[in-house]
Amino acid sequence: MSDEKNQKKPEKKPDATFFHPDLLEVPTDGGKPYLKGYRCKSCGQLDFPKLSLCPSCWGEEFEVVPLSRRGTLYSFSDNYIGQAGMKTPYSFGYIDLPENLRIFAQLEGEPKTFFCDEAVELTVGPVRDNRDGVPLISYKFRKVED
Ligand SMILES: [Zn+2]
Repeated sequence: MSDEKNQKKPEKKPDATFFHPDLLEVPTDGGKPYLKGYRCKSCGQLDFPKLSLCPSCWGEEFEVVPLSRRGTLYSFSDNYIGQAGMKTPYSFGYIDLPENLRIFAQLEGEPKTFFCDEAVELTVGPVRDNRDGVPLISYKFRKVED
């Protein structure tokens, strides 16, 4: 018989939920996901994550700015004891973006393989399971594969 894999099957949707829609945009047109920066309409300060008031001028109106998908790993930690719903070991760290923002994020990849100042890029995937065992999907960073 021919290759069964080429036959179309109804796609099973992953039982997953987004961690927070204010943080991350995953375009439905196939575009690459990006983190949502919030630029103050009064003074231009850029922040991530979203704040209710601009810490610089107390402005309340913001425009969403797609943040750079690549940055450098400022610092990180490997963890062997995780909170409930997290598979250990895992790593997290601070990523410096060109916009002069420092992002705290989980890192995708094996612990003991990360280095400070290395290039990392945004990715999207499960960060942990919720109480019902459903994976929470959010942003992570991984080594740049060039
Ligand atoms: Zn402001």
